[in-house]
Amino acid sequence: MNFSDSEIVASILEEKGFRNTNNIGDADVIFINTCSIRDHAEQRVRKRLDHMQSLKRKNPRLVVGLLGCMAERLKTQLLEEEQVLDIIAGPDSYRDLPRLMEEVESGHKAVNTLLSAEETYADIAPVRYDSNGISAYISIMRGCENYCAYCVVPYVRGQERSRDVSSIIRESEDLFRNGYREVTLLGQNVNSYQWMLDGKKTGFAELLEKVATVNPLLRIRFATSHPKDLSDELIQTISRHKNICKSIHLPVQSGSNRILDRMNRGYTCEQYLKRIDAIRSILPGCAISTDIITGFCDETEEDHHDTLSLMEKVGYDYAFMFRYSERPDTLAADHYQDNVPEEIKERRLREVIDLQQKLSWQNNKKDVGKTFEVLVEGFSRRSPEHIAGRNSQNKVVVFPATGNTPGDYVNVKISRFTSATLLGDAV
Ligand code: SAH
Ligand code: SF4
Repeated sequence: MNFSDSEIVASILEEKGFRNTNNIGDADVIFINTCSIRDHAEQRVRKRLDHMQSLKRKNPRLVVGLLGCMAERLKTQLLEEEQVLDIIAGPDSYRDLPRLMEEVESGHKAVNTLLSAEETYADIAPVRYDSNGISAYISIMRGCENYCAYCVVPYVRGQERSRDVSSIIRESEDLFRNGYREVTLLGQNVNSYQWMLDGKKTGFAELLEKVATVNPLLRIRFATSHPKDLSDELIQTISRHKNICKSIHLPVQSGSNRILDRMNRGYTCEQYLKRIDAIRSILPGCAISTDIITGFCDETEEDHHDTLSLMEKVGYDYAFMFRYSERPDTLAADHYQDNVPEEIKERRLREVIDLQQKLSWQNNKKDVGKTFEVLVEGFSRRSPEHIAGRNSQNKVVVFPATGNTPGDYVNVKISRFTSATLLGDAV
């Protein structure tokens, strides 16, 4: 999400004549895009700002701005705490950056943290930074109104709003024309995407279908699905199109109904597992990944074991795993006690990670002997004689170079594996 925002900011600034530099010492303006999801993310930004101090000593005219969620969360308080900052801009005020820079030029510090109910940056063609030229992100909606008890997103990214369908299709077509072969549609809860035009509603399943028909050679991924809103209709849409990737990210967070209720997730484990059954029956071979939080308020050893056993039941292919980090002003911070000691959160996290490693290994083992269509992304990081890409299930596949170039589709038969990678040969 943040990466996608940085690309929008780059586009707004390029429009005003600014140019990107890879050498931070040459920069006249530095914007730091920030995330507030866990305390650790904010602490890293604070360290970065210390480094900015030394750059500013060398170049007193340097302008430093802080963008995104942390700017939104802390607003003007940041100007007092971090003297190095000249600009604070929340996620809905990027269009205002040129004006904010003018304000700084006239000798003031500048702040805009207004949230909007409409801003989607629909008309802005993002500058593709650090891209492999093959895969790109397309932001299809902003904000979130689910108010999961632990989560800061609804407070820092504002109301949920969807982006105009036609602008999403146009962006997909432009990317394809420029050689891209994979787009990932992004939103906090893509299943609630909805665009109204002349009284006609386009939901996420229809949007996905529209993007899938841009070109059969354009692969489509999406994130994130909320388990409470993942419909059979959507799973059926995925099954109808070969180029919609067979990989669903369905964050469960916990395997205990008591904890899910406290987290305000809006589903029980039984309901979640029914969604998994629907995926398995409509989309055999589909990869399923998840997010898990360990040590949420009041989580007992039994709750933790329920999470481990749910992970085993689903047999996830991949997981993002975190220990709970209390965020100020969230429902959990206001109503519950962050009462699981850090060392217990950490130990539970280790157990979750170890189990996931085992599950990924078991799943990858089942792929030996299968042939997958792989979209080539480039050379393997470890060896220039090998190329790497991904299969539809989002697994990295490495195989000996065959003269293919990025963007090609190659059928690869899997012969070996690790818990993170499949290895094989082109067939
Ligand atoms: N909208 C997505 C998730 C966005 S945040 C969804 O609902 O699934 C990505 C992940 O960060 C979450 O799924 C959650 O696992 C984790 N996360 C969010 N807030 C957290 C917190 N306060 N502490 C630890 N992990 C958190
Ligand atoms: Fe946060 Fe929940 Fe919204 Fe995801 S759905 S962004 S976890 S509030």
